[in-house]
Amino acid sequence: MEAVNLRHFRKQMKANKRRMKGFLTRLEKKPPRNLDKISATLDKEVWKEVDCLSCANCCKKMSPTFTPVDIKRISSHLGMTPVAFKEKWLYLDRTGDWMNVKQPCQFLNLSTNMCSIYEVRPADCAGFPHLAKKKMIDYVHIHRQNIEYCPATFRWVEMMEDLAKKDFKLEYPVAIV
Ligand code: SF4
Ligand code: SF4
Repeated sequence: MEAVNLRHFRKQMKANKRRMKGFLTRLEKKPPRNLDKISATLDKEVWKEVDCLSCANCCKKMSPTFTPVDIKRISSHLGMTPVAFKEKWLYLDRTGDWMNVKQPCQFLNLSTNMCSIYEVRPADCAGFPHLAKKKMIDYVHIHRQNIEYCPATFRWVEMMEDLAKKDFKLEYPVAIV
């Protein structure tokens, strides 16, 4: 596993994002029958290469959605009321979701890239970047946004593009360049 080089990632993303977003649009319109199985396999391959602790770009550049259950759990962990927690850290966006006011996230330790509330972090953070979801077709539009921030998502899409060239036939062991 190699450390993530965010400068290199941004260059790669800029050079390839148009093509990759187009690919995801086509994938969403015409997914292969085994999309969930392929996604889960590629998820395992991605994490052999990408080390989140050398990245933390999601915690630096994006906000998780805080559900009412998240807010209750995290505020209790911090010894605050949910109302005080929301007032201190969150705002309600146009779609009615509670989001972080601050970026990077207030709970990110910028020296270690570790989450200071890891055990009670929002469900959105725990599931991010959603590369092995059961109904992957519902998440393809999310990857289209996340590809700009998340090197793991970027790599997953690259691998998916390679498989598409082989008609989505999974071979074992998975050989993806
Ligand atoms: S709560 Fe933790 S995992 Fe979630 S964005 Fe903040 S630092 Fe990252
Ligand atoms: S999930 Fe993506 S953006 Fe977040 S730390 Fe891992 S590779 Fe980086």
